[in-house]
Amino acid sequence: MDKPVYVTQSTLPPLEEYTACLKNIFESHQLTNHGPHVARLERNLAGYLDSPALLAVSNGTLGLQLAIRHLGWKGKKVITTPFTYVATVSALLWEGCEPVFADIDPDTLCISPDRIREQLQEHSDVAGILPVHVFGNACDVAAIGALAAERGISVLYDAAHAFGSRLNGKSLFAHGDLAVGSFHSTKLFHTIEGGCIVSQKPEDMAALGLLRAFGHIGEHHISPGINAKMSEAHAAMGLCLLPRIDELIRRRATRTGLYDRLLLHRFPCRLKTIKLAPGLEWNHAYYPLLFEHEETVLKVSASLGAANIHPRRYFHPALTNLPYLKKQSAPLAESAASRILCLPLWPDMEDKIVEEVAEIVGKSL
Ligand SMILES: *Cc1c(COP(=O)(O)O)cnc(C)c1O
Repeated sequence: MDKPVYVTQSTLPPLEEYTACLKNIFESHQLTNHGPHVARLERNLAGYLDSPALLAVSNGTLGLQLAIRHLGWKGKKVITTPFTYVATVSALLWEGCEPVFADIDPDTLCISPDRIREQLQEHSDVAGILPVHVFGNACDVAAIGALAAERGISVLYDAAHAFGSRLNGKSLFAHGDLAVGSFHSTKLFHTIEGGCIVSQKPEDMAALGLLRAFGHIGEHHISPGINAKMSEAHAAMGLCLLPRIDELIRRRATRTGLYDRLLLHRFPCRLKTIKLAPGLEWNHAYYPLLFEHEETVLKVSASLGAANIHPRRYFHPALTNLPYLKKQSAPLAESAASRILCLPLWPDMEDKIVEEVAEIVGKSL
């Protein structure tokens, strides 16, 4: 490849559409502090995500931190998955929580409810569960909800990959006490940097809104807050992309279909991908491939690298190996992390790039 091919390419709207929004912002002189673009984006996102209440925030990591505070988990034990991006766990650590890892289901790569049950038996003092809808696949929300209800603890979903995925017709964001999205520019829907917190209870929003903006309303100081506001220029990017989202997902699906034909169907014994949850309309956020052995991953990565193609080992290493955490055991997450490779994928990716990637992967096998 003449130009490097990365794991993804950020989606951009036509420049004129974005500059038209920026022109409005310039004319209004309101650049941030809950301006009309943020308000409109929040309303439109709440509709798209089947959520009665939604707050836009400056990024997904701060969204997780605000949600953790709001749920009263600060300083407590929280069960989470070791197979995720590090931000899931670093958000817990910044809030002084102790992550307790429950291993994953080796087929879906999402946290296993059976392993959660074991950790709940082991630890009587767990404050909540933080599962991740990995690669846009759905966690077993029914089983996780039942375990949490039994123990009387709360569930916060890291829904950073879940935008556009629907389970039995409803957005994945509609599950859990709270769900947090990331609108980072590498994600399926983005605001350059950004994120959201979704709740099923509109009464949560006042307290979360205070946490997001310094904990005061005018001169009335209520609680210690932080600054996690989204700016008008960021919201404008979201407003330009949101109407295109279903089309973007359709185009991703065409690319993943081509990868399936060129790779999964040709090498059914040597390659696997994630098993989607029953009832899931998947958002095609990533194209994860599981190889039999780590050596194959290294070989495939090297061959792709030599052709200027740079896939990512999401999520290697498993977070049980973080040097600043007490070692815990999660053999299935560690195995998946060592054998996974996410291939390049974006909505406008040319077929010939998909074909080239597939050919190099196939040859390396
Ligand atoms: C991207 C991501 C985050 C962090 O989101 P930011 O908006 O980049 O802060 C959290 N969790 C997961 C699983 C992610 O992939």
